[in-house]
Amino acid sequence: MVSGKYDAVVIGGGPAGLTFAAETAGKMSVLLLEENFEVGKPVQCSGLVSPRVIEMSGLDRWHNIIGSVDFISPNGSRLSLRGSEPKGYVIDRSGLDIHLAETAARNGVETLMGATFTDAQRIPGGVRISFRQGGETRIVEAGLVVGADGVSSAVGRKFGLTRFREMVSCIQTDAVAAGLDEGDAVSLFFGSEVAPGFFAWSIPAGGFARIGLGISAGANTADHYFKKLLEKLGVRRTLNITAGPIPIGNRGRMVDDNVLIVGDAAGQVKPISGGGIFTGMAAAKLAAGVALSAHERGGMTRKSLSMYESGWKKGVGKELERAALVRRIFLQMSDSKLDLLFRILDESSLKEVLSTGDIDFPTELSPLLLSREPSLWRFSPQLIRALF
Ligand SMILES: Cc1cc2nc3c(=O)[nH]c(=O)nc-3n(C[C@H](O)[C@H](O)[C@H](O)COP(=O)(O)OP(=O)(O)OC[C@H]3O[C@@H](n4cnc5c(N)ncnc54)[C@H](O)[C@@H]3O)c2cc1C
Repeated sequence: MVSGKYDAVVIGGGPAGLTFAAETAGKMSVLLLEENFEVGKPVQCSGLVSPRVIEMSGLDRWHNIIGSVDFISPNGSRLSLRGSEPKGYVIDRSGLDIHLAETAARNGVETLMGATFTDAQRIPGGVRISFRQGGETRIVEAGLVVGADGVSSAVGRKFGLTRFREMVSCIQTDAVAAGLDEGDAVSLFFGSEVAPGFFAWSIPAGGFARIGLGISAGANTADHYFKKLLEKLGVRRTLNITAGPIPIGNRGRMVDDNVLIVGDAAGQVKPISGGGIFTGMAAAKLAAGVALSAHERGGMTRKSLSMYESGWKKGVGKELERAALVRRIFLQMSDSKLDLLFRILDESSLKEVLSTGDIDFPTELSPLLLSREPSLWRFSPQLIRALF
């Protein structure tokens, strides 16, 4: 039995789904389904975000403000970058989700917790959505279903939209560790012995440190490298452990008739850092604007929703494509090449340029860096050429 009809049903109450719902509610009837019973839990995130996320969300609490980043190369040398502006904020990730959920509720979003999307069928002018809640299967109808259901997106799979390019396996902990929990510098560790195919991090969060790593290569599991990292950093006590994959890039589409995907479900993650909060929220805002105008014009067709996909590719998506090229260059580099790169970048005029970097748009610096230091071309002339 159909128990409701909505203009849009959003699957997933993470930053992307909550942002889409908050932006469209009031102008459309919006139902949000979240399989967990509590917003923002379990946390699978380090909560390091750019100032843009603070601005977009209106969040007014954080654990720490990050002023500098230390890059530690495979041979242990350190490249320290300090900017004049805050580089990032360390937030309580579940606090962000709760804050976004409160905004969504205030704007009129109806939310069902403990409600798991299970299936969808196309019907004239929309989609019939099945979900499980309290041991029962329930059905609602919608003009638009929004897959904001994260890396394992059942919506993306159901409609054949999600085909991730790459997956990074992550594991992290909040730890009490002398010297790592204070100050305003994030440390990033690189090398095939530390975190093959990605990097490890230590983030001072005021009273504790968030320590973790991601891998996309190597002969061992993330857990193996993680134990070695904790030992190396002298961590004696961990407060929790979370693990999860980060999807990088999507070869599939983002829209079809009466459906769109957003956030991790669409692989909208920064390929260099793995950060997906800013990108997911930015995509959700864009998708919401397109969905509202499609709704006004009377149809959530693939054609009308495709403005979201094209707008994304011209905007933040363009940066992600360029960053994916930088990641390909990074993946081709041996430990000794990384050591050499870090040595070159440590040169003072390059450091000055790097210090102005924006964590959401890191590739914007590439032209200036390459013009200041032409020897950088040697690392991968073909891929670097493709950047421009
Ligand atoms: C270890 C780790 C550290 C990270 N650190 C950072 C960081 O510091 N900064 C940063 O920007 N990003 C970070 N990320 C990435 C970031 O967490 C994600 O990119 C971000 O959460 C994506 O938001 P989202 O709303 O798309 O998806 P999610 O936050 O994953 O939300 C999806 C929601 O959908 C729900 N759901 C799933 N399936 C269903 C279903 N069938 N029915 C109903 N609900 C469903 C889930 O329960 C979940 O609440 C990290 C990721 C990992 C794994």
